[in-house]
Amino acid sequence: MTVPSLCSPVVGRLEPYVPGEQPRIAGLVKLNTNENPYPPSPRAVAAIEAAAREGLQLYPDPQSLALRETIAAHHGLEAGQVFVGNGSDEVLAHAFFAFFQHAGQPLLMPDITYSFYRVYCRLWGIAPELQPLDEGLAIDVERIAARAAEGACAGIVLANPNAPTGMGLPLSQIERLLAACPQRVVLVDEAYVDFGGESAVSLVPRYPNLLVVHTLSKSRSLAGLRVGAAFGQRPLIDALERVKDSFNSYPLDRLAQAGARAAYEDVAYFDETRRAVMHSREGLALALEDLGFEVLPSQANFLFVRHPAHDGARLAAALRERAVLVRHFARPERIAQYLRISVGTPAQCDALVRALQAIV
Ligand code: PMP
Repeated sequence: MTVPSLCSPVVGRLEPYVPGEQPRIAGLVKLNTNENPYPPSPRAVAAIEAAAREGLQLYPDPQSLALRETIAAHHGLEAGQVFVGNGSDEVLAHAFFAFFQHAGQPLLMPDITYSFYRVYCRLWGIAPELQPLDEGLAIDVERIAARAAEGACAGIVLANPNAPTGMGLPLSQIERLLAACPQRVVLVDEAYVDFGGESAVSLVPRYPNLLVVHTLSKSRSLAGLRVGAAFGQRPLIDALERVKDSFNSYPLDRLAQAGARAAYEDVAYFDETRRAVMHSREGLALALEDLGFEVLPSQANFLFVRHPAHDGARLAAALRERAVLVRHFARPERIAQYLRISVGTPAQCDALVRALQAIV
């Protein structure tokens, strides 16, 4: 894409994210962007419908206070320790702006992680310092902690469970990083934590440098509504509010505030659907291993797999010919043989396995 000379030079330096395919044709088995295969809670849908009938002529609550109170209560926190935004991507964008611009000091992150982090670095002029994963593709906590302890860094960002590997770190390892980097923010992106990971939200009252980010796109089936949240002590949340209010003062519309709130209140549905996904994940992992795939241990709603005898890109293309979408990352080189497969309904998982039986 060319950048017109009318644009600021900053635009030319951006490296925009390449989103996963959102197909325009119906009938595909869509296992490529880690959405939840189940619909949102009926209570969330009813709340959105009710909000659409009442009050859309009025502006929404700029503070999203009722929603923040509901989310805070769910985690045993106060509303002032919760920030909400349009998807966790927006929350992350504000957080990078608020916490990681430190006079050119680099931001530490695993070299294989959610690729948006590097996009935000470009956007805000932050230098990423990539820390390689260990041999088993796990985050090398000791390496990052040792580097952070040297000082002169803007902070640490990581996804736990990591993306696209799906592998999770125990809380003790998160605490190791928090202790190694007391002067800077450690941002833990827990987009997938509800599928079996250990959440660091419980550490918020003890660590002033911890910011945890969640999304309603995965375990609460609301990717289309665009709601994310951050948890931290008040000074961090106040900083995010200042940044947010400097862009636009209405982060969440009325439908999003109402639907997200009802989704948090429907704990039974949340538990039922996330357990269904975890159950399917275990079955799918076994089926893939039977086909000869190596499957990384996953605490997320997707599996990261490779076949010793088949090229990753070719496998993804062959699946697409059979109407099954999965995600393949050509880069970094180290993961180019892998496929990231979102866990679908049992029927979707069966369709994937049948297609792979025909291919491998
Ligand atoms: N963090 C991670 C690790 C993700 O994989 C994603 C989804 N692609 C997000 C954040 C963003 O999710 P959303 O903006 O839908 O909340």
